[in-house]
Parts: sequence; structure tokens; C-alpha cells
Amino acid sequence: MKNYYFILILLSIALGITCGIFFPKQMIAISWIGKLFINLLKLIVLPLIFCALVSAITSMGEIKKLGLIGVYTICYVLLSVSVAVVIGLLLLNTFKPGVGIPPSLIMANASAHDTQPIPLSSFILTLFPPNIVAAAAKYEIMPIVFFSIVFAIACITVGKSATPVIDFFVGLRDVLIKMIVWLMYLTPIGLFSLLATAVAEASLQHLLLQSLSGLVLFVVIFLCGLFLQFLWQVAVVAIVARKSPRQFISSASNALLTAFATSSSMATLPVTMMVAKKQNISDDVARFVLPLATTINLAGTAMYEAVSALFFCQILGFDLSIPAQIGVFITAILAGMGATGIPEGGLVTMVMVLRNVNVPTSAIGLLLPFDRILDRFRTMTNVWGDLACAATVDYFHRKK
Ligand code: ASP
Repeated sequence: MKNYYFILILLSIALGITCGIFFPKQMIAISWIGKLFINLLKLIVLPLIFCALVSAITSMGEIKKLGLIGVYTICYVLLSVSVAVVIGLLLLNTFKPGVGIPPSLIMANASAHDTQPIPLSSFILTLFPPNIVAAAAKYEIMPIVFFSIVFAIACITVGKSATPVIDFFVGLRDVLIKMIVWLMYLTPIGLFSLLATAVAEASLQHLLLQSLSGLVLFVVIFLCGLFLQFLWQVAVVAIVARKSPRQFISSASNALLTAFATSSSMATLPVTMMVAKKQNISDDVARFVLPLATTINLAGTAMYEAVSALFFCQILGFDLSIPAQIGVFITAILAGMGATGIPEGGLVTMVMVLRNVNVPTSAIGLLLPFDRILDRFRTMTNVWGDLACAATVDYFHRKK
């Protein structure tokens, strides 16, 4: 089934590009199919972000029991996700792959609401709306993120009587993940339409080659960023955790290959646990750190969110001042930590980062052709980060 799906994706890419070039007008006429796909994605994103954040943060309630292990883990996760985002932002600012790509590639699929700018003065107020349901209806995602964080912390503080509430949201998250998995079966159709519309717009303006080179540059830059993220964590494993990087990489290879094959760090978790055992990471540490890291340490995903947002801003010629980039930095970290370790889980939270910089969500369509393959590489980076985290925490734990 997986192989057929992959072939279908390749076919829809080829078909989308061909139809976009040869039948541009017809493809623009059926652009609603791509919009429908994006709508379905957006339909699930709000409840999923809420449930994923609540379950991830409340799972940290265990921290009290596990004391220092938990604190080390959180520190490592924050460090690795932040470094990933910084690497991504630096690379994008240096190479500027989005400059020169026609904005119409993004605007072709955008709806009016997507592009409405949020005035700076009311930005802080929108983070704390008087009515959270009304904010959700307006698709303001940051208030939902803030609300979920505070809600989760309150659940932890309340303790035992909040357990049914937490269980409910954990269950709801699993149901929503199932829906996302189903939605992903529609990717070939959505992909075809979004790609065909984008190519049609570009070819009507005779800008196809110019756009393609920018997109390829973006992909290459992102892969280099992931490689840098891999490298600094090799150094951490060697210098801080005092493990032979060669041996560590060779025993991790099983998990990395599984990550590449499944595009899911969650599905890879059992293999990751086995690697930790092989590397003599203590059971206590592995059992706590790896599931937690799999949930919140999606550094490759966070980097993807940041570089994509900046890439789109470059295409649209948007404000890339330091405050705007700090906004991208913060939302990308939250999106990386809130994303779910399933195939294309990062695409869902990307909506949050894009909304924050007023980029229309339909821009995601531009990345869809590459996303399946990029997803495999960022999943490998995520899993590698989880193992590096476990090794480092284990070292400090033993030293204690
Ligand atoms: N597939 C990734 C993972 O499981 C998440 C993503 O970046 O889409 O880690």
C-alpha cells in the first residue's frame, strides 16, 4: 500500500506539472479542489493543536516524579529546537531563495481572509481575546496556543481530579490523528490541483524556470540545514555524552532508516527505544525521555516551519525585520513542539506559523510536491535528536 501511495504521489506531481504547463486555464478553473484540500487540513488543525499541546504538556506532569531527568530533557529540547530554527533562519537570510519567485504562485490559491493583515497595535490584544471560541472561529491560532498552554498547566496543578479531562484530550488527539491519516490519502488529489494551479499561474506569466530554480535552492538549503542540525548533535553525543560517534551512529542507523521509511518519529519509537538499550542508556531515562522527546522534540520540523515561513515572506516581499523574524522564531518553536510525529504532521502546524506572518495558508501548496521526501529527512533529524537527547540526559543522570 505504502509503495502504491508513493507512486501515486509521484504521478500526481508529474501530472500536475504537465497539466499546469499545457492546460493552464483549465487548471486554474479547477483550483477549488486544492482549496478544498487545504480547507480540510485547516478543519483539523485547531482542535489538533489544542489537544496535542495539552497532552504533551500534561505528560510533563511526570516531571515532578522524575525530577532532574525531566528538567534536563526540557532544557535539551528547548536548546535543540531553538538551534534548529536559528540555523534555518540564518541560511534563509543568507541565500534568500524566495527572492525572484513570482508572488502569484502563492496568491493563486489564496482567499481574501488568508491575506488580511493583522495590525501590529492590536497584535498583543489578539493573543488574549475575551472569547476563545470567537478567536477560533476567526482562525487566530496564537490565542489557542496560549490558552492550551495555560489550560494544560492548570490541569497539572489541579492534579487527580483533572485526570479525566487530560484523558479526554489525549483520546481526542488520537482520534484527530486518525483523521489526519485519512486526509493524507487525499494528498495526491490535493497535490495535483495545488501544483497544477501554481504551475499554470507561473507558465501564464512565463516565469516557470525562474520559480523552479528558487524552489530547488530552497530544498537544497533546507537539507543542508538538517545536516548541520545532525552535525552539532553528533558533537554533543561525542563531547557531552562521551560516546563514540561512530558506534552511536551505526547503532542509530536502524532507527534512522525506520524514520526515513515511515516518515513518522512516533512509529519509529519502539526502534529508537531498542537503540537506546544497545547504547546502554538506562531504562529509567529511556522510558521517560524518548516518548517525551518524540512528542515535543521535533527540531527538524521546527526548522521546516521557520524556513518555509521566511521563504514565503521573501516571495511575497513581506517585512523581514528583526521583530518579524523573532515572531517566526517563537511560532516555529511552538509549532515544532506542538507538531505530531506522524507523516506530514509538520504541515498541520505550519498553518499557525504562516498565519502569524500573514502568509496565506494556501502557500503550503507550493511545498507539497517536495514535502513527502523532505518529511523523511526531517523525521530522521527528529529521531536523531531524540537519541542525542536521551544519551545526554543519561550522562548527566549517571553523573549525579
Ligand atoms: N513526520 C515528522 C515526524 O514524524 C513530522 C513532520 O515534520 O511532518 O517526525
